[in-house]
Amino acid sequence: MSKRVRLYEGKAKILYEGPEPGTLVQHFKDDATAFNAEKHEVFEGKGVLNHRISEYIFQRLGEIGIPTHFIKSLNMREQLVREAEIIPIEFVVRNVAAGSLVKRLGLNEGDALPRPLVEFYYKDDALGDPMISEDHIAVFGWAGPQEMDEIVAMSLRINDFMTGLFQGVGIRLVDFKIEFGRIWDGETQRIVLADEISPDSCRLWDIASGEKLDKDRFRQNLGGMIDAYQDVARRLGLLSDATPEKGDGPKLVK
Ligand code: UDP
Repeated sequence: MSKRVRLYEGKAKILYEGPEPGTLVQHFKDDATAFNAEKHEVFEGKGVLNHRISEYIFQRLGEIGIPTHFIKSLNMREQLVREAEIIPIEFVVRNVAAGSLVKRLGLNEGDALPRPLVEFYYKDDALGDPMISEDHIAVFGWAGPQEMDEIVAMSLRINDFMTGLFQGVGIRLVDFKIEFGRIWDGETQRIVLADEISPDSCRLWDIASGEKLDKDRFRQNLGGMIDAYQDVARRLGLLSDATPEKGDGPKLVK
């Protein structure tokens, strides 16, 4: 195989130059980090599960008219995506109090919010991704007012869709983080959903037991992270139910 040009390596993903101009290959690693990379561990198979779960969610979102960067899956842990100019903001949508919201405002974890809450964080590891307001975004020109209207509306649609998707498989969508980018289509610029949506970037709780099925298993040293991610994939119909042969690992179904 010819050597690919690595454009960027993040904590959980690598981006390679794609086969055609305007495309990238997004590679999902097995690495897990938390607390701004102070905690790091490798979980065999995590990248494969996140790739598959993210692919599935992006495809379903595409079907309801959310433009995304996703083009197609290339193999077990890589997907071809459209190159986008990433807006340097993490958009967090919350339905239930958890994580930093609980700490910041002294709420009780698990309390349902009166309506979905959208928060903005400036993407900067050195600064620890500080929370920002819409006015910061306008003043520093990270996104225009029209872009923000579009992104917030899209984020709420994504939240509604994903809430229903997960509710249908017995999972409560507590919160999630998404990223957006700009793509040029000839003369026109479009906003697309980029990055990933996976148990690394969502809080997912089993509705019946309250059990955490996401990266909090790693952050809070609960153990069983891969089992939890597999459970999410299985419930979404992405893993065959057949018990794998010993040493065979999980079976992904297409
Ligand atoms: N999140 C993420 N990447 C980040 C920060 C947060 O994917 O760099 C996700 C996180 O998994 C959760 C949601 O965004 O689903 C809200 O996270 P929160 O602000 O509560 O921060 P945390 O408690 O994870 O530090």
